[in-house]
Amino acid sequence: FLQVYAESIFRDGKIHGTMLVLRDVTAETEIDRMKSELVSTVSHELRTPLSSIYGFTELMLERDLKESRRELYLKTIHDEAKRLSYLVNDFLDLQKMEAGKQTFEWETVDLLELARDSISFYQETTDSHHLHLDADVGQDFKIEADLEGMRQLLGNLLSNAIKYSPEGGNVLVSLERLEGQVVMKVRDNGMGIPSSALPNLFGKFYRVDNSDRRKIGGTGLGLAICKEIAKAHDGHLHVESIYGEGSTFICELPTSKEAIHQ
Ligand code: ADP
Repeated sequence: FLQVYAESIFRDGKIHGTMLVLRDVTAETEIDRMKSELVSTVSHELRTPLSSIYGFTELMLERDLKESRRELYLKTIHDEAKRLSYLVNDFLDLQKMEAGKQTFEWETVDLLELARDSISFYQETTDSHHLHLDADVGQDFKIEADLEGMRQLLGNLLSNAIKYSPEGGNVLVSLERLEGQVVMKVRDNGMGIPSSALPNLFGKFYRVDNSDRRKIGGTGLGLAICKEIAKAHDGHLHVESIYGEGSTFICELPTSKEAIHQ
């Protein structure tokens, strides 16, 4: 984008000439566009649960409700308030990471131990899915990382794998040790991702549009957060998926910051 304006050049109080100025404002225009897109997405994402909370509380205040209705309304209000709180937390986390202001605490993290912990934690939240671990226990899966960041990354991938696969589904976490890095994969045999959605999948607020999925709660921020966490670890996160068959999220993590520069 070019901004064009004319400026008169004066000499001894008289117009001496006119100068045409061309300014490249591509960067500013792009930032403005991104800002307004963000404001409209955030306001939309906040407005939907808020208006639902407002509507249901109003109904509850106005009418004499049957106990079963009251419970249903309260549950909706609770779910929407929970969604709002997740949304705000995820959004703030992501903003912080993108601005490079998130403080990571580097320590030795055993990914095998973390995978075991996370699997048993998420297995407790679901009776309908089977969570498995595949790793050569004789190998060393320790890396230099931020423990809470790694927990959040694996947790988001695991909860997605459960959310987007049918009852009875299998979710597999696998660890593989390569030269200077550990590859952590989360595989499910769920609904998969259409190839048209793959380029946007890790973008902010992006959710694959399909009526089945719309019924599943989410903020569309989980994968964007995972990507930022992987990036902060000099790692790489990507996905392989066959629509209708399942998805595998693959995270390559260097064992230490130096390992990747060798
Ligand atoms: P959400 O809060 O919507 O789950 P995410 O950023 O975690 O947001 O994921 C973005 C979108 O990617 C999801 O809405 C879903 O459509 C798709 N997705 C993520 N993980 C999977 C998966 N394991 N299988 C199928 N689709 C997935």
